[in-house]
Amino acid sequence: MTQKKFEFAPMPDQNGYFGKYGGQYIPENLKKAMDDIDKAYEEIIQRKDFQDELNYLFKYYVGRPSPIYHCRRLSDFCGGAQIYLKREDLNHTGAHKINHCLGEALLAKYMNKKKVIAETGAGQHGVALATACALVGIKCEIHMGEVDIKKEHPNVCKMKILGADLVCVTRGTKTLKDAVDSAFEEYLKNPDEFIYAIGSVVGPHPFPKMVRDFQSIVGREAREQFIEFNGELPNAVLACVGGGSNAMGIFTAFLEDGDVRLIGVEPAGRGLDTPDHAASITKGSEGVIHGFRCYVLQDEKGEPLPVYSIASGLDYPGVGPQHCYLKDLDRVEYVSVDDKECLDAVITLSRKEGIIPALESAHAVAYAMKIAGSLPKEQTLLVNLSGRGDKDLDFIMNVLGMK
Ligand SMILES: *Cc1c(COP(=O)(O)O)cnc(C)c1O
Repeated sequence: MTQKKFEFAPMPDQNGYFGKYGGQYIPENLKKAMDDIDKAYEEIIQRKDFQDELNYLFKYYVGRPSPIYHCRRLSDFCGGAQIYLKREDLNHTGAHKINHCLGEALLAKYMNKKKVIAETGAGQHGVALATACALVGIKCEIHMGEVDIKKEHPNVCKMKILGADLVCVTRGTKTLKDAVDSAFEEYLKNPDEFIYAIGSVVGPHPFPKMVRDFQSIVGREAREQFIEFNGELPNAVLACVGGGSNAMGIFTAFLEDGDVRLIGVEPAGRGLDTPDHAASITKGSEGVIHGFRCYVLQDEKGEPLPVYSIASGLDYPGVGPQHCYLKDLDRVEYVSVDDKECLDAVITLSRKEGIIPALESAHAVAYAMKIAGSLPKEQTLLVNLSGRGDKDLDFIMNVLGMK
């Protein structure tokens, strides 16, 4: 098969832009701190001892490479294209987030930082980071809204058992937005000794680049594994998009393979024509959020709108800048899947393959199921299964009335 080639200059540019997206829309003191991290990062990732240690931990701690798996029964059920999964759900801690959290924690250690600071919403980023910091041996401080602390009991317990300092944020709406502000304030008290760890390919430069680089192991493995398995590349690669880290992780290795369709799946929640969704690329407009330019779901004043998805890991009103750029270039197709289709995919994948996916990942599975039937049997769809459903069991039982 002759492959169409896409060519990209290295991204982002010197100033942290992907086309017109990304950058650093932050105060001067924070800009200096971010530039220091960028400079240190560019030096440290070149070091053999850093790469060796990270690769060692990926292999023996995370359990990489994660397998790719051909879903025969699910594919037969859908009656068309063959569906494959990249099993990030099998990583230690059960999702892809450990990949970039380990990278960030290790970077902190190599930069001789004393404390890693982050915010968390549902607690997934907090748990992955607390895990990585425990392993690397560095102090970890997680800011979390009081409302979220009450909702997310198992994750709160995990962070505490792992030794993280949990800061309960009681200002404002007592949720993620206020946790971000609280965590940044603490960080700015001493940016020389502290480092901030962002949970997706979002935030000011260099975070979208760093998090993407740490996640790109997923696509490098998957591309090689798929060729070994099938002798050729998949026809399409799919991933769910919240901030966009698991999607950038798998897409990066395929960006230049012009014949491989790349499909990002956003959460349509209760419907794109209701306010209850989080489809930032599909329905948002250009704006600035949390220090970077991207598509944002915003009101007339540029304030982020409240967003919603059945999957708490996807309900963010912005999206990674590289996704916005790839959307404008038409290199990636962005589509959406609603709550009902997501739940249907959870149950179908569980009963056809014995794999219970995270609600987030089920969005990508749902879209693969939706298009498989209309594609020929020889076609192949590779889905990034970003995480396992253990964290969602009670919720799924409740909404489906199975209790
Ligand atoms: C956090 C999370 C996501 C969403 O984050 P991205 O940065 O868009 O990948 C997706 N899947 C799982 C399992 C998650 O925990």
